This record gives sequence, structure tokens and C-alpha cells, in this order.
Amino acid sequence: MATKLAIIGRTGLHKILEKYGASRISQQKIKTPFGSSHLLHSMIYQKIPFYCISRHGEEDLYEISAPFVDMRASLYALRQKGVEKVISISAPGSLMEEMGPGTLFVPDDIIDRSYSSKRTFFENRGIGVIRMDEPFCPSIRALMVTDLQTNFKGKVFDKGTYINTAGPRLETAAEIRDYTLLGGSAVGMTLAPEVFLAREMELCYAALCYPVNYAEGIAERPYKRGVLFEGLATEEELKIVKKIEEAIPQLVLNMIPKLEVLVRDCECKNALLRYKKRGDLPDDFSKWFE
Ligand SMILES: [Zn+2]
Repeated sequence: MATKLAIIGRTGLHKILEKYGASRISQQKIKTPFGSSHLLHSMIYQKIPFYCISRHGEEDLYEISAPFVDMRASLYALRQKGVEKVISISAPGSLMEEMGPGTLFVPDDIIDRSYSSKRTFFENRGIGVIRMDEPFCPSIRALMVTDLQTNFKGKVFDKGTYINTAGPRLETAAEIRDYTLLGGSAVGMTLAPEVFLAREMELCYAALCYPVNYAEGIAERPYKRGVLFEGLATEEELKIVKKIEEAIPQLVLNMIPKLEVLVRDCECKNALLRYKKRGDLPDDFSKWFE
């Protein structure tokens, strides 16, 4: 059976999924025109194969910290392997009082303030001017929202704007006021340019976010020396986050059989059609970067 699905998440995600009934078959790094990919873990759940990628590396939680993550090789590798649908898991800060730790968030829009230099596959080729009316795949989003609303006991925010910053530092209170004025719901460092690169690879891509703290200034949080985020998250909130992290693997695995048969009645797969029509890109993906 061809592997059509991939999950991108935190370091050690494959090990957590194994605890919840997925099996790991093999692992490999793929050489691509964009360097070596992350380690692709080939997994299987209920006879359905999928790949699992830890975007920050294999060893430490932040072996590759946010500004240095380059997803081009890995997304290229997924496309080359025949993957069509990608679920991305990320842990942003919340810009909304009602969307605290313990809730889930499925963004439908994004503002990229990271200005990554690794944000396109098509350097100097005049390709990639793509409409972004729905940056996250509407087909996967709809499935994800319905599934989470059925299976998750807490509140699910089914839309909102994710603000992407460069990191690794957290945001200032003034920046957060700015992002709030922009209409942002959450702020994080992982979904861009990942979501845009996925679109350039014509993949369906949607994100499942679980807020881990309130962003600076949204809630009053005294400074605490030498602890995670210097006290921006309370101990109580961190306990809630730990519980959510324990719930997410099963929630994601539940979606796998439905994702496998999900019809791609969205436009993600047609993102570069006009470049193919005018002969800038061959129909055969393996010849795109020759
Ligand atoms: Zn799609």
C-alpha cells in the first residue's frame, strides 16, 4: 500500500505514537536537491502506513531550534514518496483568554512574521506566485475539526489566525498587542514557512495546535527565575499541557483511517497547475528540479 499520509510534530513523536498502537517499520533520511531530509519514520496503524517526522530533530526537544528548521528537503521527500496529506502538530502561545492551555486550535489562516530565507523551493525561477485564499487544506481541516469535536472532551477552536514569529525568543508584550490588533488567535514559530512549502509541493496540509501558555501580556504572569518560559506558563497550566500531550497521539491516530480515504476535493493538488500549463514545470515531479 502506498504511503499517502505524514505527521509532523515534536521530537520523539514516533515513540509516543508507538505507545498508542502504531508500529515503526523502518526509518531513513532521503537525499534531495535541498539537502538531506529529516529522519522519515515509516509507521503503520490499523494497516495504514504513514510517515512521522520530528521537525526539531531526533535527540533533544530543540536539537534544531525554530529559526534553523528547514523543511524543504523533508517536504520534497514526502512528495517524492507519494504522500498527499500532512498533519502538523504544534504548540503555540495563545492570544485569546478563552483559548488557554487545555484547548485545541485548528487555524484557518496565518500571518508569517518569520521572514525565513528558506521559504520557497523555486529560487530564481519565477515560480510560486500562488493564491493563499486557504493556506491550510480545507478538506483536512474539516475532517480534523469534526473528529476533534467528537473525540476531544475540551474546547476546540475551529478557526483563527496563527501568527508565525522567527524565534527562538518569545515575543514582547508590545509585539503581542500588535498581533492581537492584527486579529491573531495564537503565536508560534513552526507553521511558516512549513505550510507554504507544503503548498508548493501540492500537499494537503493542516495543523493541530494545542496552546501551551498565554502569550506575553495576555494574562498576568510574574517572572520566575530559571524555569520554563521564566514563568509565562504556570505550573497548573503545564500540568494541563502534559495531559493534552497525552491525549493528542490517540486523537491523531483516530484520524488516520479517515484521512487515508479522505477525498482531496480541494485545490491543494492544483497549486502549481498554471506553471505546468505554461511549460515551466513538467507534469512528472521527479523532473521539477533537474
Ligand atoms: Zn487539500
